[in-house]
Amino acid sequence: MLNKISDTIYYFPNQDDKDRPTLGLVCGDQYSLIIDSGNSTQHAIDFLLEIENLNVPPVKYMVITHAHWDHFLGMNEIDATIIVNSLTNELLKKWRNYTFDDKSLHEYVGNNEMSSMCMEIIQSEVPNRASFKLRSPDVIFEDTLTIDLGNKICIIERINATHTDDSTIIYIPDEKVIFLGDCPYGTTTNSLFHYKQSLLLPMIEDIQKFDAELFLLGHESICDSNEMNIFWEELTTASQAVTSSSLENAVACFKLDNKRGPNDNELFFIKAFVNDYIIQSQ
Ligand SMILES: [Zn+2]
Repeated sequence: MLNKISDTIYYFPNQDDKDRPTLGLVCGDQYSLIIDSGNSTQHAIDFLLEIENLNVPPVKYMVITHAHWDHFLGMNEIDATIIVNSLTNELLKKWRNYTFDDKSLHEYVGNNEMSSMCMEIIQSEVPNRASFKLRSPDVIFEDTLTIDLGNKICIIERINATHTDDSTIIYIPDEKVIFLGDCPYGTTTNSLFHYKQSLLLPMIEDIQKFDAELFLLGHESICDSNEMNIFWEELTTASQAVTSSSLENAVACFKLDNKRGPNDNELFFIKAFVNDYIIQSQ
């Protein structure tokens, strides 16, 4: 089921059991734009079937928010002009050279080029995968791009992000809605989940430039301004307490600064910032 945000914006909610991220649909008077293609052919087909049930203008554009497989592997299925930033384009080149037969998939998983979850989804949700080749994007932008879908402006912008270096957001000014992809999440390096501390404040600043009231995230339901502010507050408070790779020191510092212990979210973030110091020292 597509969820309706307004008369012109919808989203297909994330499904964690299938590793499916949130997908978006923005409709102007003349054209529609899709945000992320889904994690597989089947995910894209399911999304397109939902769109067919709406009486909306034809899908002309698709923006891929970053080069993680769960956001782009469905792209071949969607007949649209694909828009990515230049780094996403670079990162996708590797995937265009991949072949998707079992032998190749096992090889990629063995080399840590692909997660086993990704392999399983490809095996179950990409029919004809023996001949599957990922297509190329059509429009490559550097920093920002504005598209008018017909009385519906979409601002597409590459931003600083803690999740990946190639994060793109999509902002719809007249609705005050912003699609963030996975950008505010942490990342995993050498099996360690961490938050890049140096990128946290530049990212929050980048996102807060946009006058948004509703925030769509890749693996979360929709957040309002209040929920998003709590998320930023917990992240920044946790970050301020971490100045080394010692979890003990960080928690003690947090208690001193805030006159209370961290809640579960804050503790999770503190650990991720501590892991960032561990990664940096490796
Ligand atoms: Zn991601």
